[in-house]
Amino acid sequence: MTNTDDDELMERGRKIFAGSAEFIFGSTSATDLPKADAVEIAFAGRSNVGKSSLVNALTNRKTLARVSHTPGRTQQLNFFDIGGHFRLVDLPGYGYAAVSKEKVANWTATIRDFLRGRPNLARVFVLIDGRHGPKDVDRQVMDLLDEAAVSYALVLTKRDEVKLGDVQSRLEATQQEIAKRPAAYPEILFVSSHTGEEIPTLRTAVARLLAERGETR
Ligand code: GDP
Repeated sequence: MTNTDDDELMERGRKIFAGSAEFIFGSTSATDLPKADAVEIAFAGRSNVGKSSLVNALTNRKTLARVSHTPGRTQQLNFFDIGGHFRLVDLPGYGYAAVSKEKVANWTATIRDFLRGRPNLARVFVLIDGRHGPKDVDRQVMDLLDEAAVSYALVLTKRDEVKLGDVQSRLEATQQEIAKRPAAYPEILFVSSHTGEEIPTLRTAVARLLAERGETR
């Protein structure tokens, strides 16, 4: 791909996220979902990984993803329409220590059903805390995605908390870890919602994905 293509995609990514962003639907079960009539890109991650902050940074909003933090709604799959370009799906956070085994089983069942029955799901971005790298609970989610053959990409978060000299080694160690995973996209981003580092790159990745899916608006 030429530099001009890259520049164009980056500009497209910026534009995609510069327009409207609206909460459209909250779903508590995989049997109650919006019609699968738009490209969807989902975001998953352990509670506290920085998912709400990332959704807000991508969309230049302060509180868009707040709805997912409302007590009682934390188990919802939240659907946002991003400027009519695609639907962003904010999956409920996992791995919260205080959650009962039953709730974990519910989360897994709901997500498994969602992943299996969603042909319009272009990719899942799995957020990993960049300060630690993947944990077992993250690996379990990657197993789920590999089994469901849903394309996913890892995004390391909180880059501003990691020493400059450790950024590259954390990226490489994580890349090596996922190298044999069948549904994992090899390229990993390392973002900071606080400083904005690599947020434009993530927007560009979304633009590339939509272009591949034939989204032309
Ligand atoms: P969620 O539970 O995954 O939605 O996580 P939140 O977005 O609510 O963030 C959890 C905590 O991590 C909050 O205290 C945020 O301020 C913090 N956080 C999120 N993103 C970043 C980041 O890019 N850098 C730093 N240093 N902290 C972050």
